[in-house]
Amino acid sequence: MKKEFIFIGPPGSGKGTQTKMLSKEYNLPHIDTGSLLREEVASGSDEGKLANSFMEKGQLVPIDLVSKIIKNRLMKNDCKEGFILDGYPRSMEQAEALDKILSEIDKNTNVEPQVFYFDVSQDKLVERLVNRRSCPKCGAIYNIKTMHLKDETICEKCGSKLTRREDDTEEVAVKRFQTYFAQTAPLIELYKKRGQLSSIDASLDINTIYKNLTGAIK
Ligand code: AMP
Repeated sequence: MKKEFIFIGPPGSGKGTQTKMLSKEYNLPHIDTGSLLREEVASGSDEGKLANSFMEKGQLVPIDLVSKIIKNRLMKNDCKEGFILDGYPRSMEQAEALDKILSEIDKNTNVEPQVFYFDVSQDKLVERLVNRRSCPKCGAIYNIKTMHLKDETICEKCGSKLTRREDDTEEVAVKRFQTYFAQTAPLIELYKKRGQLSSIDASLDINTIYKNLTGAIK
């Protein structure tokens, strides 16, 4: 049976870390719209420039661009057995767009995505964001406050220099929260009503969250 997972949660709720672990164990592609958009920005394309003008303000990138990226990605061969969506949909209109995309892709199946909501209080989040560092080479994510790295600037998995995301400053983080509460949080009710939502307490430690998450998979 095809497995389709959607992750919703505020910035810094740990979706990236958990979805990467899940992707490895279940051998499903991890589709993270934030990373796909950052790649587009790095390519220097006109679409990347457009995306960046929204990302640097903590706003959602226009739906046409995001839907195009997601549709192209979901149609790739490696999504045949399923996928993990991290950071999409992020608004009611994106949820409608996804319904449409999936009705085309899954025409002859009755598979329904399971939606995980990462629930965590806001005060923990800004702190997690400003202490977040990531490895541009292997994708590892670190919290320099809680993880006690030998060297805060170096990836312990592959030795590359760690980077800090441009939008992980306190100022942009606050805007990203506002965007989340205004546009993304209403999706929780939508998927709850549809019976697709599982709530995960994302304030716990990484391994406990992962255990609860995999335990909740239907
Ligand atoms: P993230 O890496 O998930 O925190 O996303 C970083 C930024 O990329 C967000 O603040 C948005 O500007 C943009 N972004 C990511 N996913 C989406 C999406 N589904 N729709 C619109 N913009 C997005």
